[in-house]
Amino acid sequence: MPKVRGENGEKVVLIEMDKKPNNLKYIFGPVPSRRLGRSLGVDLVPYKTCTFDCIYCDIGKTTCKTTSRQSYVSPEEIKGELELYLSALDKKPDYITLSGSGEPTLNRGIGEIIHHIKELTSIPLAVLTNGSLFSLEEVREALAGSDVVIPSLDAVSEVTFQCLNRPHPSLKIEDIILGLIQFRKEYRGQIWLEVVFCRGVNDDKEEIERLKGVIERIHPDKVQLNTPIRPPAEEFAYPLTTHQLEEIRKQLGAQAEIISEFTAPLGIESNSINEIEILNLIKRRPCTTEDISKALGLHLDEVVKYLGKLVREGRAHYRMHEHHCYYEGTLIH
Ligand code: SF4
Repeated sequence: MPKVRGENGEKVVLIEMDKKPNNLKYIFGPVPSRRLGRSLGVDLVPYKTCTFDCIYCDIGKTTCKTTSRQSYVSPEEIKGELELYLSALDKKPDYITLSGSGEPTLNRGIGEIIHHIKELTSIPLAVLTNGSLFSLEEVREALAGSDVVIPSLDAVSEVTFQCLNRPHPSLKIEDIILGLIQFRKEYRGQIWLEVVFCRGVNDDKEEIERLKGVIERIHPDKVQLNTPIRPPAEEFAYPLTTHQLEEIRKQLGAQAEIISEFTAPLGIESNSINEIEILNLIKRRPCTTEDISKALGLHLDEVVKYLGKLVREGRAHYRMHEHHCYYEGTLIH
């Protein structure tokens, strides 16, 4: 059983350590996910290539805002990495998730990638998307082979959509809603609609009532309510309290559930090697998520997940300095 040094220099026996191949560019994790268990991530676009620039985005501001679908990563490369990775893992992940550092449907090979993954393994496949391109028939068709699609829909009025998601100028919320309704008619898998609430932006009763009407038109299998708990792209993206989320849940009805991480149980995959390495690093010096990602060769999504867990457990904290968020290890006496 592999051993590493813990927070206080003690030897820690890991419950599990996967023999991960090095130098993978697109596959990361598995990361613990409240909804998807142990989720193996596949990144289909370059860092922060997205159709939106959400104020709450926890991986930073969008550097390439576009609606142009391109072959950012070749399906063969993803297939090759995944084959290598899956053969090296001791324990199968619960899900393979197409997500990463931007909007995965911007990769125009996503349909082929889904096809390759389904040929390779029976592990369920999920897609995390902002749903902005669902008005395109080819995007809806491309996702047909996946098992779960988790689109976000944070606003239903144009003005709120513009303030919160800051979309590419060609995108209109009504087209996105119509795309989601059409997708529901065609798609045979599960649709879990995610709504992220920011205080004072999309949490007023009228907006939520309108959202309720739209959800009834879309007919998702689940509605999942969230709020930013990790440092957001903009400091003014404030989270809701658990009580406020609970009130919204009641307003939206039985189908809605709260999935915000501050309601998640602690201790999943406690003391994983990544968590300990991150903690050891930020105890030596304050680091941004990018610093940690570069220093440890971890994907940003992975870093963000582990930091979220460490902050919730009180083992790390963060502070803002000149618009950058720095993490530090918390001294426990
Ligand atoms: S939260 Fe998602 S949709 Fe919004 S900017 Fe970040 S990656 Fe894009």
